[in-house]
Formats: sequence, C-alpha cells, structure tokens
Amino acid sequence: MTGLYVHIPFCRAKCGYCDFASAPGTPGEIDAFLDALSAEASRAPRRAFDTLYIGGGTPSILSPEQLKRLFCVIETLSGPVHALAESTFEANPESMDAGKAAFIKRSGINRVSVGLQAADDGLLKRLGRVATSGDFRRAYGDLRAAGFDNINADLMCGLPGQTVKGFINSLSWLLGLKPEHVSFYALEVHEGTPFAAAGVKEEPDGAADMYEAGASALKAAGLDRYEISNFALPGRQSLHNLNYWDQGEYLGLGPAAASYLDGERRANTSSTPEYIKAALAGESIPLQYREKLTGRAREGEKIMLALRKTSGIELPDDIFIESKEAIDRLLKAGLIEKSGRFIRIKEDRLYVANAVFREFV
Ligand code: SF4
Repeated sequence: MTGLYVHIPFCRAKCGYCDFASAPGTPGEIDAFLDALSAEASRAPRRAFDTLYIGGGTPSILSPEQLKRLFCVIETLSGPVHALAESTFEANPESMDAGKAAFIKRSGINRVSVGLQAADDGLLKRLGRVATSGDFRRAYGDLRAAGFDNINADLMCGLPGQTVKGFINSLSWLLGLKPEHVSFYALEVHEGTPFAAAGVKEEPDGAADMYEAGASALKAAGLDRYEISNFALPGRQSLHNLNYWDQGEYLGLGPAAASYLDGERRANTSSTPEYIKAALAGESIPLQYREKLTGRAREGEKIMLALRKTSGIELPDDIFIESKEAIDRLLKAGLIEKSGRFIRIKEDRLYVANAVFREFV
C-alpha cells in the first residue's frame, strides 16, 4: 500500500499547545502556497497511490476556489480521488460549512477527520481553540448532510484542570453523535508553544486514567481500539494511518511533510516561507532530515511501529533470539503478551508503550 499526504500549513489561530507546522498565514500566502505545492508535485516521484490524507493545519480553511486548485494539483499525482481506497480530509468546525462539505464529497473524499478536542467550551477557550462544541455539532451535521458516513473526531486528554469525569463527559457527548472513528491524545507540552511559555505541565497520571476510562467507554459504544490512540467501528480503521504503522511507503507534500520511499525517510522544511520560496524558484525543497533505513535499524523501526497496533507483530527469528532477555523483562513487568514469536503490548499498558519500544530500537 502507498499513501499520499498533503500538508496545509494554515489555521485561523494558533492553539496554545500546538507544535504542528501551522500559522494563520499572511494575505496571499495560501495562493502562493498552492503555486508552490503545484511546483513540488510536478517534480515528485510517481507512484500508484492507494490512500490520500489532506492534513494540517486546517485544510478546511481554504476557500472553495482554493479547494478546487488543491484537488487539481493532487489529481496530477493520485489520479481521480474517488478511485482511491481511502481519502481523508481534515477539518476544523469554524471553517467547515455545507458548501465545502458538498464540494469535498463531490471531489471524491470519503473520510473526514474533525477536531473537537473537548466538548467543554470553557476548556476549549483555555486551549485557544476557535470553535465551540456547538460549532462542532453544526459542522458535523453539515458533513452528514453531504453524505459522509465515515467521520473521525479528535479528542484530547490530560488537559490542565481536566478531570476523568470531565473527559468522559466530552467523550459521551461525542459518542451521542455516533462517529465511526475516535482518536484521543494526551497533552504534550512542547518547547516554543504558548503553553510551554505559560508553564503548563503535562499530567501523565491523569492522562493514563483518562485513557483507561475512555477505552472502556468506546468499547461499550462498539469502537474497538486498534492503535494506542485510535478507535473505530468494525471496518472503519484508517487505512492511511495503518499504512504508516505497517511501515508502508508514503509521499508527503507541503511544509514539514514526511516521506518514506525506497527505504529512505525524509521531511520537508517546516518553514512555510522557506518552502514557498524554494518551490517557486524551481529549487529542491530544503529538508529537516534525510536518512536511509537499512538492516537492524529498519527492522527495529518496523517492530516499534507494529507494536503501536493492538494486533502486535510476529518477530523475525533473529530478532526474537536477540531480544530474548528484553522480552522476558517485559513479560515480567506485565507489559506484553507473547505466543510463540508473536508479541503485543497489553491493551491496558499501551499508554506506557514507549518503555516497550525502547527495548527494540
Ligand atoms: S487547529 Fe490544529 S494545527 Fe491548527 S493551531 Fe490548532 S492544534 Fe495546531
């Protein structure tokens, strides 16, 4: 399977915790970015793509005219979007409306991922989110009315002042809307963000309790966990993201977009002005990193990625033998389950998955 990822680096405002390549953008910058994206796409390697993910940032911030241009650029690489196995479009409630929902549906998008983060408007305000829970409900309704039957919503846990009860209230509110897929992530405070500057602290213990309570509530609603942070109704797992965890190939376009092709991984500069300047000058896009993964390093990464999934992995003979002591340690600590050469992280220990990954990379 091969995925195509397109990063739209614009948002209406910067959220307090956000460490993604995104900014409100200056006048004319989105159009210049689309010119640059077209230039990058024209020089990109050709592949037969199975999945598409338009992420960000906030792709729904584009105007109808800009969305038209975006899909024209994408189709020069992917062919008709409606022919892909899965095509996801990320949206935030404040910039998704009935017209855009109908347009992306007509353009072949078959899955939408919407940022909710919390259903508590006071908390949303403290996070610096633009939309309220009411805006989410309205945008969600517009997407359903346009015919989308595969919607993901993102939630956050471990937020400042958030209790397990508060988190479960948000989750229950969301489950009342019957999404096909839910992702939830614990707050991470990264250097350079407004939260870091304000001294906001991560709360790993609180987040772990929320993970556990959230997973039970989702299971009761029929959404099974298939990755640390991802839950879906049967048959609604994200094919594009599964391809990442299966160490499949993908091409990323746009600022900060990562690619993994022919055993090499690389990521574009996260600076949008630098990206636009280079692409429009016909130069190579500056890279944050570029490295060839071979041998044990490639195997180690494959195991680490696979262990994110609840289905686990069957270890190759040599790694199984080499890792015998580590596996015994992890079994003793109650972190993994093993059957022959097959291992997986216990579902109630997925939130400490990093301790397991460390043993294999
Ligand atoms: S909407 Fe998402 S990408 Fe945009 S600023 Fe907020 S967290 Fe960052």
